[in-house]
Amino acid sequence: MAKLTGRTALVTGASRGIGRATAIRLAQEGALIAVHYGHDETSARETVDAIEKDGGRAFTVRAELDVPGDVDVLFQSLEQGLAEHVGATTLDILVNNAGISEKGEPGTFSGEQFDRLFAVNARAPFLVLQRALPNLADNGRVINISSALTRLAKPDEVLYAMTKGAVEQLTLHYAKHLAPRGITVNTVAPGITDNGSAVFSMPAVVEQMARYSAFNGVARAEDVAHVVAFAASDEARWVTGAFLDASGGSLLG
Ligand code: NAP
Repeated sequence: MAKLTGRTALVTGASRGIGRATAIRLAQEGALIAVHYGHDETSARETVDAIEKDGGRAFTVRAELDVPGDVDVLFQSLEQGLAEHVGATTLDILVNNAGISEKGEPGTFSGEQFDRLFAVNARAPFLVLQRALPNLADNGRVINISSALTRLAKPDEVLYAMTKGAVEQLTLHYAKHLAPRGITVNTVAPGITDNGSAVFSMPAVVEQMARYSAFNGVARAEDVAHVVAFAASDEARWVTGAFLDASGGSLLG
């Protein structure tokens, strides 16, 4: 028996990479998935197609997450999709995954870069979780995707790491707030993970990146998706406010 049968899940940024792998993984466990994307409808459809080919159920939800009214647009489509598929707007699992990164010379980041990264990586998860509160079922699950970068210093990614530090605060405080309802809130922190972008087809670059991991490799998106699926499961009911390191030992030094 699939573990998430009868549950509903919203995975933000599920048109590719870790979000797509997570959507597919949760669907394999029986959940109905809202596949959120910002711009790339074709790729989001491919996620839905992959889920349906596997016998699962999913629908797409479009919302650009750094524009005014973004979260309202997201929840309008989400609630419509849920109502059409299951006749209710209850959400059992929220995965705040959508994110962007940017590197730069320390000392040169602009206010615009700061605002853009914080809008997508911190403001959106905060407002999405806040807006999801009336929809979230008791004993539901919230999983916020951070990064191992919050635990080691990499000055060219200081801005990105700051946004993820904010995400981890979201986990901590909402874990306490939602515990009386049995809702767990956890952080999953990937290390370098193949998200299908061109750089992962360059062996010399991959070799460099692999050195961060104690396993001397880069993760597949599925490796992270398994950890998210655990956090989403009933078995993880006694885990909340946690930082789940899915970095392949990148923090071991
Ligand atoms: P990715 O392949 O770059 O995909 C990003 C996803 O987020 C896409 O579905 C994209 O949808 C969506 N998105 C981006 N900006 C958006 C916006 N403004 N509005 C709406 N949707 C937006 O990402 P990934 O590498 O799998 O990373 C997923 C998460 O893991 C992120 O939070 C990232 O910070 C974190 N992470 C990744 C790694 C890694 O090495 N890959 C390491 C540590 C942490 P559209 O293209 O349709 O807009």
